[in-house]
Amino acid sequence: MSPHTNTYDPETLPDILPFYYKRLFPFGLYCQWLRYGNPQNNYFANREFSFTLKDDVYIRYQSFADQKELEKEIINRCPYKIDIGAIYSLKPKDHKTVKASSFIPQEKELVFDIDMTDFDDVRSCCSGADICKKCWTLMVIAIKILDKSLRDDFGFEHLLWVYSGRRGVHCWVCDDLARKLTATGRSAIAEYLSIVKGGENQIKKVILGDIVHPSIERAIEIIKEYFDQYALRDQDILNDSNMDKIINLLPEKKRSEHLRKIVCGGVDSETRWALLTQELVRPGVHADRVLKEIMLQYCYPRLDIEVSKGLNHLLKSPFSIHPKTGRVCVPIDPLKVDTFNPFTVPTISQLLDEIDDANKHPDDLKIKDYKRTSMKQSVEVFENFIRKLKKTWEGNLIKESDMNMEL
Ligand SMILES: [Zn+2]
Repeated sequence: MSPHTNTYDPETLPDILPFYYKRLFPFGLYCQWLRYGNPQNNYFANREFSFTLKDDVYIRYQSFADQKELEKEIINRCPYKIDIGAIYSLKPKDHKTVKASSFIPQEKELVFDIDMTDFDDVRSCCSGADICKKCWTLMVIAIKILDKSLRDDFGFEHLLWVYSGRRGVHCWVCDDLARKLTATGRSAIAEYLSIVKGGENQIKKVILGDIVHPSIERAIEIIKEYFDQYALRDQDILNDSNMDKIINLLPEKKRSEHLRKIVCGGVDSETRWALLTQELVRPGVHADRVLKEIMLQYCYPRLDIEVSKGLNHLLKSPFSIHPKTGRVCVPIDPLKVDTFNPFTVPTISQLLDEIDDANKHPDDLKIKDYKRTSMKQSVEVFENFIRKLKKTWEGNLIKESDMNMEL
């Protein structure tokens, strides 16, 4: 595979999308995932999809009988963006023909949305939709902390992490129990995972109690692995222009001037952090707790909690294309998140070039097209995820057939 540049021009999207959907979108795997072994009749057919078409025409409540129908419709309409919603009591496409009260969302993956713009007050390298290698570390930390917590604290096993295509990540918790959670259950989990509180006007966003919950202690250990490089060196959180934000988070406001002088004695953020740490150790100050609160405020994942709470909230589908960047929303292996680089995620135009190249070597034509491009690794992450997930319903099928035998 020869290296291709990631140059992508959003104007070309309508011309190249048909090619992507015809040749690269992994429909087979995608529908295997969303069928979940069909735990109830119509599990797939009652799922809401929504499409964003050209000129931001947004159509909700699409649903499809099977893979064939979904594939045909996506190839025909070539949506700029695909979102996935809930599994309803009835086919979403029929929702207008039934009473509103009988059309209810019943199940959906528990989802999390982490967006870099929510960290604008604690990153100095970029703002808004921009990201760089430095602030991407926040997403790495977020995936590590949430993945661990969802597995260890809640016992979930089937987590699909996906790059949002631009400035964030999504997590789809696909365990049977997670899909059946009520709105209250979803809220409770999302609240448990939200440590950084308060909007723009709240200066101090993390306040720890006398006893720190083991889940938070574990998160702090993860943050510590990155803090020196990320916060002190890359973000330079204690340089002259950023320092006030930290000083404002410290107790004993009347000592602020004194602390600022002490901290300024260091030449860089690392020495300044060390000086601050020393200075905080004094009677009446819980130095350790104060430093942990700062670390959490600067590095702990910030969730868009509304996305997780609502059963009928839509989320961008894996393998959708981000229309602005042209990048594929690829699955991320949480065990290899340190090496995931959002800037090398293939763009749709790059994939087109790669296929052209691959076609010059027709000997491997039997291999699926997506495996002949740089989408290969991410499709394999998806395959591994589905392989594990399949075991859950294969187990159920065996149990069912055993029961039938007994009857
Ligand atoms: Zn940045």
